[in-house]
This record gives sequence, structure tokens and C-alpha cells, in this order.
Amino acid sequence: MSTTAHEETLGFQTEVKQLLHLMIHSLYSNREIFLRELISNAADACDKLRYAALDNDALYEGDSELRIEIEHDSKAGTVTVRDNGIGMDRDEVIKNLGTIARSGTAEFLKQLSGEQQKDARLIGQFGVGFYSSFIVADEVTVRTRKAGSDKDAGVEWRSKGEGEFTVADLEREAHGTEIVLKLKKDAKEFADDFRLRSLVRKYSDHIEVPVRMPRVETAKDDDGNEIEGSEVTSWETVNEATALWVRPKSEISDDEYKAFYKHVAHDFADPLTWSHNKVEGKLEYTSLLYVPGRAPFDLYERDGTRGVKLYVQRVFIMDDAEQFLPLYLRFIKGVLDTRELSLNVSRELLQQDPKVEKIKGALTKRALDMLKKLAKDKEAYQTFWNTFGSVLKEGPAEDFANREKIAGLLRFSTTQTDSTTQDQSLADYVSRMKEGQEKIYYIVADGFNAVKNSPHLEIFRKKGIEVLLLHDRIDEWLMSHLHEFDGKRFVDVAKGDLDLGEIEGEEEKKAQEETAKAKESLVKRVRESLGDTVQEVKVTHRLTDSPACVVLPEHEMGYQMRRIMEAAGQKMPEVKPILELNPDHALVERLEATEGERFDDLARVLLDQAIIAEGGHLDDPAAYVKRLNALLSA
Ligand code: ADP
Ligand code: MG
Repeated sequence: MSTTAHEETLGFQTEVKQLLHLMIHSLYSNREIFLRELISNAADACDKLRYAALDNDALYEGDSELRIEIEHDSKAGTVTVRDNGIGMDRDEVIKNLGTIARSGTAEFLKQLSGEQQKDARLIGQFGVGFYSSFIVADEVTVRTRKAGSDKDAGVEWRSKGEGEFTVADLEREAHGTEIVLKLKKDAKEFADDFRLRSLVRKYSDHIEVPVRMPRVETAKDDDGNEIEGSEVTSWETVNEATALWVRPKSEISDDEYKAFYKHVAHDFADPLTWSHNKVEGKLEYTSLLYVPGRAPFDLYERDGTRGVKLYVQRVFIMDDAEQFLPLYLRFIKGVLDTRELSLNVSRELLQQDPKVEKIKGALTKRALDMLKKLAKDKEAYQTFWNTFGSVLKEGPAEDFANREKIAGLLRFSTTQTDSTTQDQSLADYVSRMKEGQEKIYYIVADGFNAVKNSPHLEIFRKKGIEVLLLHDRIDEWLMSHLHEFDGKRFVDVAKGDLDLGEIEGEEEKKAQEETAKAKESLVKRVRESLGDTVQEVKVTHRLTDSPACVVLPEHEMGYQMRRIMEAAGQKMPEVKPILELNPDHALVERLEATEGERFDDLARVLLDQAIIAEGGHLDDPAAYVKRLNALLSA
């Protein structure tokens, strides 16, 4: 029997208290997931013991048949989940069942609003784990002992989920963990054999560890009557108990794939798609990769969890093995099982093993192919893109070799749809290119309105030439790593000389040259007036509605990137734009007819306006306002 001693009462970490409170409130309609979480933890604990025992068989303590047992007592209203896995020592119990150690937790909790549905979704993204016990239980008791430790090194943890818990020493014969839930009044339905069996099947068919439940059999006499006192309890395995990825694809249903995803990804929602591959030959591995339906809460955290669950010859090695996928595919979840690595591989060893690079290359290809396939379903792909598009945009910079493939997966806003939704592919764009058009035109700015209304688009709109409208923060950086698609060069319409190539006829070009000649003296006067603030002044034919625009030299960093660098504390060298004037605009005609100080003011106002329209900022905005007001009141 157990003797308890060294009892102490401790408070939950603040974050746990907040999570418990919000979770119980918002996950009420999803209560059954507590069982999935507890089975998932028990299975992980068995995996960990098997791994640790590779080096030290004694850890099994003579009991190497790993298993999970689920029992209930409908009279007492309890459900027990038991495993003979790795177990925990006192420090681990306090840390694992009293705190949340993930980075970004505090920020995550701040997002919760108290609005039930929204919070349920967010908490689902976060993953509730062990604490979900308190959705159905008003008291939880955990008895555990670390495999390989002395019998009196057990720990009993107990809590009502209301801010504190107690831990006490415990003598425990078996290693592993037992969790007893005392069900709340309104959750007694779970202390039911049929209900539990169907939940076990739903949540753990794909888990390799057998999940057993007791079956009570009563002998019958010759007349078919039950013989009193003859009850025999035998353990019966309820789940399939084979690792899902080992089974042939043809025998796995979509529901099984989805259930397994939830176990691997700690997600509540279904995945968007998956790809299951067994590869034999030079490089042997089985992979099962998933695209989640929504972003995890820590997608943009520097040390957010990512990577696949790694198995070597079916033996679990580690969670979150991030070496097998590039950073820009960090949203992919799943399992990799391979015989290429040794069973005692560690994170450090993974970094040095050349086979890891090879498998990474192969998985990257699988993941990109999976996305390409997903793209055939426009609606599903749009969900993917809206969720993970800005992560995928990191791809061309990180993965040179797959640049063209990644480019094919990108989606953009364009002048074709003028919609802020990024839903046009480069292939779409190319298929609509005008006769004689050789390049893919794009423009970058902060925010959709700024990009959509840019003066640089005027000529393109007039001629019906499509332009990609890039308005994400990462876009200028993305484009600096994309040079071509389908053999066509990308051209930033706000940089360098405008050359529409074959799209413009000879006559048009000739007319432009003539205009430029006619305006030579105006250009010279503006240049002298503006002096050093500009690199050059020109007449342009880019504009139809605006009087002027600024253009950056072709290889100059754009305004968006400059702002990002400046925000990061980098001092950027001054950039001198090229000012281009629209010869057909009334203001430019007015300028031509003006002299003296008024000419200087007007020229300067045109320049400043053009910079503002570009999203740049003025060194001396007050001077601009003063000049403009002087012109307005004259
Ligand atoms: P997660 O499983 O995502 O790590 P949980 O809240 O489900 O988060 O569990 C917290 C931690 O508690 C686990 O990481 C594990 O270390 C420990 N734990 C939970 N259940 C068990 C168990 N049955 N056996 C051993 N350790 C466990
Ligand atoms: Mg868990």
C-alpha cells in the first residue's frame, strides 16, 4: 500500500491558472478531447521509455510490454488512464503539471477575449494537453514513478484545478503514470464502458501502443443463468495498435489520417491535406506529412516548435526534429520513420549526418509536391495561402534549388482583379501576358491601397498590361530573390527606365522622343532648381493622371525595404530619386509657364508629392506644407 509523506502545496503558474479558467469555459462543447490528450501523453511516455531502454534494458523493470489501460467506475464516477511508460520524478511532476514552458504563452493568453467560440479556436491552436482533464473532472490525481527509480520514489499529485496542487511522496510498485479523474456531476456520462470504448477507438487506433480495457465475463449455468460470484476480468485491447504510417495506404481511411494528425500536431481541427510515402532503395524512409488547416500560435516565434516526429525503425526518437524540413516549410507537421539513422542518434548528431541533408531534400520535394497538388483545389489552397503564404514567401531566399517550384506556388494580388486577396498564380499571369510582352511586371508598397493607387501603374492600366501588386511586408525581400519565372524576367515598375519592349509601337516611341526634345529646357530648369535632391529629371510617359513620379535606379533598395532596415536600427544611406514629369499634365504645363521663386516652390512640391505617393517620407514635412499653402493661397 502507499504511504504519503513530504506533502507540499504549490500554486500553479499564473499562465496555467488563466488557461484552466478559459479552457473549462470555452471547450465545454468539446469535452471528450480530454481522453485524446491523456492517451496521447501515455503513448508518448511509452515511446520515451522504449527509447531510453535501448541503452539500459533495466529501465523496463522486467515489464517490457508497453501498454495503456483505461478503467472506469460508474458508481464512483471516475475514469483512470494508466501507462507503464517512462513516468516522472518529483521535479518533473511539478514542472510538467504546474507550468507551461512554451515561449509566447503570455502573448497568446492576451489574445483570448472571453468570447467562447473564438477562444475555443485559439485554445485549440495552442493545445491544452494534460490540463484538459479539468474540463470534465473536479479533482485529478496523478500517481507516477520514474522507470528505473526506487519503489519509494513515487509521487502523488492532486488538484481541483483551482489555483493550487499538492505533491507528496508515494511508494509505488509499478513504474509509469496513473491518472484518476473524478468526474464532474455533469460529466458522469464518460464513466461508461461503451462511451469510453468508442472514444478510444476514435482517438487511438493509430497509436502503436495497445490501449486495453477490462472486460468482465460471467460464467453461466446449463440453463443460461449467470453464476453469482463467477465474474472474471480480462484485459482486452481496444485499439488497432499499429503505427498508422506502417500500414498500407490503401487500408487507411481519411478519418484515420485525420485522427492521427490531431495526435501528431496537437491540433483540434482537421488538416488541409497530407502525403504518405514509403520509399525504398538508396534512401529508405516512410514519411507522413500534413498541411494544417490553421496556423499554430507560435508560427512567427523565433523558437516556436517545428519539425517532424522522428522514428528510427519504428522506435520513437524525438519530437520536433527540425533538421528535416527547411524553415519556410515550418508549418508542415508529421512523422518521419527511417532506417538510415542509428537508434542512438541525438539532435547534435543529426546536424552532422549527411544522410539528414539527403532526407531533408527528399521531404522538401514531397512537401512542395503536396502543395502543388493541393493547389488544384482552389478553395482549399486559398485557405492555405491566407494562413501560410507569408511563410512560404521566405522560400526563394532560403532554398535556391527549389526557387522555380516555390514561385509556382506563390499567389499574388494583381491589377487584373484589383483585390487585396492574393489569389493569382504566376502561371495565371503568364497566360494573360500581352502579345509582345516579355517581362513580368510588379510593384511593391506597404499596404494594398498604396500599391493599388500608385502613379506607376497609370500607363500599365491604360495599355491593359497586368502588374503584380505586392503589399506584404516581406514582398520586396521576396522579389529580390526571384529573378525569373518561366524564362520571363521580373521587373519592378517603380525602378529604372520604363521599357515596355515590343508592346509599344515604333510610332509611339518616336512621339515620345519628340516630346522629350520639346521639354528639354523645362527639364533643365527643374534640374537646376532642385539641385542635389534628385539624381536626374526626365520627361515620362508612365503617367496619365499624375503630374510626376519618382523612380529609383534599378539596383537601388526600394522604400519598403529601407523602412524595414531603418526600423531595425540600420542607418541607410540617402537615396536620390529620379524625378519624372508628365508632359501632358496641366500642373507641368503651369510649371513651364512659371518663373522665379514660384517656379522653385512648385517644382519642389511636385517632387515631395511624388515621394509621398511612393510611401517615402519627407525630411522636412513642415517646409512642404508651407510651400503648398503658399501656392494654394497665391
Ligand atoms: P505536451 O504533451 O504537449 O508536452 P501536456 O500538457 O499534455 O503537454 O503534458 C505536459 C508534460 O507532462 C508532457 O510533456 C510530459 O513531460 C508530462 N506528462 C504528461 N503525461 C505524462 C505521462 N502519462 N507520463 C509521463 N509524463 C507525462
Ligand atoms: Mg500532451
